Amino acid sequence: MNEWDTAALAAADKKYIWHPFTPMGEWCAPQHQPLVLVRGQGALLWDSDGQQYIDGNSSIWTNIHGHNHPHINAAIRRQLDRVAHTSFLGFTNPTAIKLATAIVNLFPADTLTRVFYTDDGSTGVEVALRITDQYWEIKGQKRPTLIAFRHGYHGDTAGAASLGAAAMFQNWRSRWNFPVRQVGSIAELEALSRKDEAETAAVIIEPAIQAAAGMKLWPAGTLPALREWCDRAETILIADEVMTGFGRTGRMFGCQIEDVIPDIMILGKALTGGYLPLAITLLTEPIFFAFARNSLDGNTLFYGHSYSGNALGCAAALASLELFEIEQTLAHLADKIRLLSEELETLRHNRQISEIRQCGFVAGIELRPSDSPRRGAEICLAARRRGLLTRPIGNTVVLMPPFCITPEQLRQAVDAIRNSIDEVCGI
Ligand code: PMP
Repeated sequence: MNEWDTAALAAADKKYIWHPFTPMGEWCAPQHQPLVLVRGQGALLWDSDGQQYIDGNSSIWTNIHGHNHPHINAAIRRQLDRVAHTSFLGFTNPTAIKLATAIVNLFPADTLTRVFYTDDGSTGVEVALRITDQYWEIKGQKRPTLIAFRHGYHGDTAGAASLGAAAMFQNWRSRWNFPVRQVGSIAELEALSRKDEAETAAVIIEPAIQAAAGMKLWPAGTLPALREWCDRAETILIADEVMTGFGRTGRMFGCQIEDVIPDIMILGKALTGGYLPLAITLLTEPIFFAFARNSLDGNTLFYGHSYSGNALGCAAALASLELFEIEQTLAHLADKIRLLSEELETLRHNRQISEIRQCGFVAGIELRPSDSPRRGAEICLAARRRGLLTRPIGNTVVLMPPFCITPEQLRQAVDAIRNSIDEVCGI
C-alpha cells in the first residue's frame, strides 16, 4: 500500500505554502498537480505515487555525491547524537573548526585563509559585500562602486540582488536595490577610466560560467584578465562559486580552470553535498586583518545569522569533502564529463536546438526561438513524463545531474530531453 496520500498532500500544499520563484496562481490552479518528492537514492528521486525520476538538475544544483549517501547520512547522525546546533555568536564548535580548516587547506598556503559562515549562497554574497564596504571604510578609501557582469546572478537578498537578479528580473527600480555598475565584458571593464578604477570597491563574477543567465560560458582568459584588472585597480575580486564550487566544472573550483585566486570566494549549494543549507565566504588574511587589527568600534563586522556555523551542516560538508578522497570523485567525474559531451553531440543536428553549451558536468541546451515563450518549460514537463526532472532557464534546458549518475542513467536523461523536444516541437 502507498504510504502517501498524494491528493491530500497536494491540497494542503496549495492551501498553506508559497513556493519560491513560482507563479502561485498557476501552482494552486485545480488542474496543476504538484510533484511530491518523498525519497532519493543516488541520482534518483521518487514521488509520492512511486514514480522514479533522474534528478536532472541535482535538486537545484546542490547535490553531487547522490541522495541518501551512507557516508554523509552517518556523519549527520553522529553529529545529531552530540548536538544539532549551538550559537556561533560568542561560542565555537569543533565541527565548524574542522570544516574551516579543511576548506582553507584546499587552497595554496596564505591565499584564502579565513572562513565566514552563512546559510546559503545569497547570504554568503551579502556578507561579502558588507565586508568589502566596511573594509574600504576602515582603510580610509572612498570606493563606492561595485562592478558586476551583466546577466550575472548572485542571489536574492537585497545586496546580492543588486548585483544581478534585480536587473535580470526587471525590478531594478525597487527601493530594495542599490545601483551597481554592470559591465558586459572585460573589454568594457578595461575601457573604464583611472578614476573609475580607483572608485571600485570590488568586482564580482561567476567564474567559468554564468549559470542563471542560461549556462553561458565565459571566453577563455576572462578570469585571468579580470584578476589583472583588479590588481591594477588595487581592488577586490570576488568569485561567486556558489554553483561552480565542488567539482561541477570538472575542477574542485571554477577559478582553478585558469589558475586564478580571488580575494573573496563564496561557496554554497554543493558545500554540504546538497544536504543542508550552509555557505562559506572565504577571504584573504589582509582583508580579515583590517577588521582584526584592533578592537575599535568601526572594526567589528556586525553581521551574522542564528544558524551560523551550524554543526549538522558542517558535519555534512566534512563528509562530502571526505567523499572526494574516498570515492575519487573528480577522477571518475572526468569520464562522465566525456560521456556527457558524447551524448550532447548526438543532439547537435537537432533543428530545434540553436546551441549546446557545456562546462564540466553542466549542460545548457538552448532552443531556437519559437512562438511559445514557454517552450523550455513544456519540454521539461514532457521530460518529467519520461522520468527526468529538470528546470529550464527561459529557452534553455539544463542538464546537470549528481556526479554519481551512472552512464546508463546519463544516456536515459539525454534521451528523455531528445524525445521531449521532438514531442513538443514536432520532429
Ligand atoms: N550565486 C550563484 C552563482 C547562484 O547560482 C545562486 C543560486 N542559484 C546564488 C548565488 C544564490 O544562492 P542561494 O539560492 O543558495 O541563496
